[in-house]
Amino acid sequence: MRNLDKLQEPAVLEEYSAQWLQDYVENPGSSNKKYKYRHPDIKKQLKDETGFKCVYCESKIGHNTPGDIEHKVPSSRDIELHFFWENLTIACTAVRGIFESCKIIP
Ligand SMILES: [Zn+2]
Repeated sequence: MRNLDKLQEPAVLEEYSAQWLQDYVENPGSSNKKYKYRHPDIKKQLKDETGFKCVYCESKIGHNTPGDIEHKVPSSRDIELHFFWENLTIACTAVRGIFESCKIIP
């Protein structure tokens, strides 16, 4: 994984992350609540941060691979980090399988 300087936390995340986390913890089965981090402002900031490249393999994130938001520490390991800005990045894992090798972190 590349080392990148974090850009500023998007305002929407700063404002709602605590509420989103509470909603998600109370309704862990709700994909609507789970994927709040897919907000366009958050995704845009993460793309800017990585230079529109997969954080693992540096493939260009564009129309072929829209990019998936990744948790550096998986939410299964620490749910508190599910909406934590420092824990979010972006990878080409939208096409899981093909890019599964991207997921192997040294
Ligand atoms: Zn990749």
